[in-house]
Amino acid sequence: MIFDALILGAGPAGLAAASALGRARRHVLVIAGSDYRNRASHAMHGVLACEGMNPIDFLTQSQHQITALYPNIRLESDTVQRAAQIGTPESPAFEVQTATGAVYQGRRLILATGAIDELPNEIAGFETCWPDHIYQCLLCDGFERAERPFGVGVLAKPLSAHYVHLALRARCFNKRVVVYTDGLYTKEQQCETEKLFAPALAQGVTLQHTAISRLEPLPTNKGPGAHIHLEGGKSERVDFLVYKTLTRPASAHLALQLGLQINEIPGHGSVIACKEPTGATSVPGVFVCGDAGSLIKGVAPAMAQGLCVADVVWGGLLEEDKS
Ligand SMILES: Cc1cc2nc3c(=O)[nH]c(=O)nc-3n(C[C@H](O)[C@H](O)[C@H](O)COP(=O)(O)OP(=O)(O)OC[C@H]3O[C@@H](n4cnc5c(N)ncnc54)[C@H](O)[C@@H]3O)c2cc1C
Repeated sequence: MIFDALILGAGPAGLAAASALGRARRHVLVIAGSDYRNRASHAMHGVLACEGMNPIDFLTQSQHQITALYPNIRLESDTVQRAAQIGTPESPAFEVQTATGAVYQGRRLILATGAIDELPNEIAGFETCWPDHIYQCLLCDGFERAERPFGVGVLAKPLSAHYVHLALRARCFNKRVVVYTDGLYTKEQQCETEKLFAPALAQGVTLQHTAISRLEPLPTNKGPGAHIHLEGGKSERVDFLVYKTLTRPASAHLALQLGLQINEIPGHGSVIACKEPTGATSVPGVFVCGDAGSLIKGVAPAMAQGLCVADVVWGGLLEEDKS
């Protein structure tokens, strides 16, 4: 059987695409592994009607809803290892092979494979504080820990102008904001940084240049937050840290196998090249939605992109069937 579309990934993007194509009564196979970007998070924020929901519950309930409503949508738990074009630009078709050896074919291929965060694990203790005490997005998590007694730490590594904006945003959650530059020793470096951060310093943000020796989450009975242990023995406590991760497309090898381009975006990481909002790529019939192809990363944007791609895919299938 050749499916109308193969969707790789069952996060918010892939499931939204599946739901829309289910409603359009197309025959679709969704193949997804067990990992997803916010798997370590316990509560999802900023998604209307799902505020505070555990991401796993959100995904499981969405999957149940889709399979219960749309018999034309099939979900397989597996990991795609290979993807290839087997059609023509006028009549595209694709074949994928999974880790268990299964082979599937579809007329369209939707990459909803998400992104992975690059974490600075060279900072001792980062991993144990992520993501409960180190947030990658203030909009997602800052509200719940606003106005607590110890303030917000901004982990500015590598140092860039982006952290000036982040420090100013952090001020909306707490008046005490400290930017940790993790070891700027020369007077020259410190002066440059002070110039860069002038707008934030003017609002009361402070800079801490001493190198971080270790991050340590507070024991649960001591409240939320973390200790920042600095070289020389000093320790500072914050209610949470914020850190801008660089993100890379998960399963980038599939994009490369299909001949897609991966664009490097300074300060952000990389994304699979596609046109927003249609998700169209340089390969006819291949579409990208969600974190894999967009700089605007979040559950709601991923769902919106999935929906948009599904609509374009549906229209394209009908066009092709006319000719
Ligand atoms: C710690 C943390 C907390 C966050 N909190 C929030 C929040 O509160 N609110 C918010 O809006 N956003 C939040 N986000 C962002 C949000 O998680 C992502 O924007 C969203 O999950 C993107 O959806 P997606 O469908 O593009 O990718 P994902 O949700 O990552 O899903 C990717 C899917 O692709 C599958 N996949 C990947 N490769 C393959 C392969 N080779 N074969 C088969 N399947 C594959 C995965 O298994 C998964 O099913 C958070 C992110 C992080 C890191």
